[in-house]
Amino acid sequence: MRVLMVASECVPLMKTGGLADMVGGLSQALVGLGCDTRVVMPSYPGVAERVRGMKQIAWYDDLFGGPANLAIAEVDSGPSFVLLDAPHLFARPGNPYLGSDCKDYPDNHLRFAALCRAAARLVVEQPGGWTVDVVHGHDWQAGLTSAYLSLGDAGLPPKVFTIHNIAFAGLFPAGELTRLGLPASLFDPEGLEFYGQISFLKAGLVFSDRLTTVSPTYARQLQSTELGMGFEGVLLARRNHLTGILNGIDESTWNPETDPLIANPFSSRSLVGKRANRAALQSTMKLELDATSLLFVVVSRLTDQKGLDLLAAAIPALVAQGGQLALLGSGSTALEALFERAAVDHPGRVAVRIGYDEPLSHLLIAGGDAILVPSRFEPCGLTQLYGLRYGTIPIVARTGGLADSIIDANEAARAVGAATGILFGPDDLTELERALARAFELFADQVAWESLIHAAMCQPVGWDRSAAAYKHIYELARADQFGR
Ligand code: ADP
Repeated sequence: MRVLMVASECVPLMKTGGLADMVGGLSQALVGLGCDTRVVMPSYPGVAERVRGMKQIAWYDDLFGGPANLAIAEVDSGPSFVLLDAPHLFARPGNPYLGSDCKDYPDNHLRFAALCRAAARLVVEQPGGWTVDVVHGHDWQAGLTSAYLSLGDAGLPPKVFTIHNIAFAGLFPAGELTRLGLPASLFDPEGLEFYGQISFLKAGLVFSDRLTTVSPTYARQLQSTELGMGFEGVLLARRNHLTGILNGIDESTWNPETDPLIANPFSSRSLVGKRANRAALQSTMKLELDATSLLFVVVSRLTDQKGLDLLAAAIPALVAQGGQLALLGSGSTALEALFERAAVDHPGRVAVRIGYDEPLSHLLIAGGDAILVPSRFEPCGLTQLYGLRYGTIPIVARTGGLADSIIDANEAARAVGAATGILFGPDDLTELERALARAFELFADQVAWESLIHAAMCQPVGWDRSAAAYKHIYELARADQFGR
């Protein structure tokens, strides 16, 4: 089966968050299942230098204001990349969505419409005879692909669209419709209109044949007013075509036995290396070298979604019970300031690193005793899955993919050795503090804690099962089409 992924970011070429991990991990796993997979994405600065043997396959004299070309880089293993080189849109260093003023680029609608146009063209023109069996778009940046393809003839391949986070709706002024090359007929509540604006995300939801999201619980939550963020009606109407599939993690990158970014490899058979990583983490982050304290870690974007303001409020309780906290993240200046203040108030017990740091994230996840994910909502979440793999016990809010991936250490689950973490009610400081108290209680009983570690590390978190589930969705989408 030939699968064309459309995404604004993909590991290993560009990453700002879990979207890139998912597109890269799933594409790689699909190749393993025999799918000929290509990922079309923008050629941001530095991206083309990281792939070899680029071959031009299409070009434009004018793609939304400048010349552009599409080039393919075949790779030895894994998916091939088709890079959209459009310097007037993408030759901008740093974050792919934000300018140096930390605001969205004002032409983001043109930038990602260009990506979608290029993807649609690959599907229609089949350069090199590569016929696409399924087009799979990810998040709002890829949403217009389905709209452009819906304007083509009926023989085009089916479109699958994945919602990674409904909070990003890709909203732009209605007046831009013509400039985007879309007919006025699509600007309708049944089409891509969202309360008077164009929503790229809604285009993906309405014009795709099958929808997926990144966990079964989030698939249900998306149909509620509480978490549907205004799209619940569309998703309720399309519920028979919406499937939640939990993300996996890339186990060639995240494996405590082979991780080159940690000094001391370890496995569930021997945790000696984990203890050495813990000491290395304390020393790197300038925490007290305390072998007995419960060391919590966080690796996260610092945004309201992640519920970290609640964690900041719980720090006095965490420290009072003898805990330590190491946090790596960046985002809202208010949250950054809150955690930097906490580090000053609790020297040696709370350490904070503001920024994006891949190697340090591996050390935190390898060296921590417990990883905190107190999100208000969380479509899937990846760091709790890394935590499972590295025996760093996830303490997570009961929402979205967090609820689907962690088994709470209640009496029944512990009795059968199934517990892998601690769950608590989201958006509730008392619940979070209770969860921390439970963690301290379990940690004080090293036999109980090690049994959690073993169960966590044995939990399957790779892509195998989930990639097979996506392949099944592709087959269903194709069957729907042939049945039409
Ligand atoms: P989201 O996509 O909402 O940010 P996820 O948990 O799905 O959250 O994915 C976040 C990804 O980004 C994970 O791979 C995580 O390790 C990584 N990450 C987040 N913040 C940082 C950071 N400051 N430094 C390094 N990696 C980070």
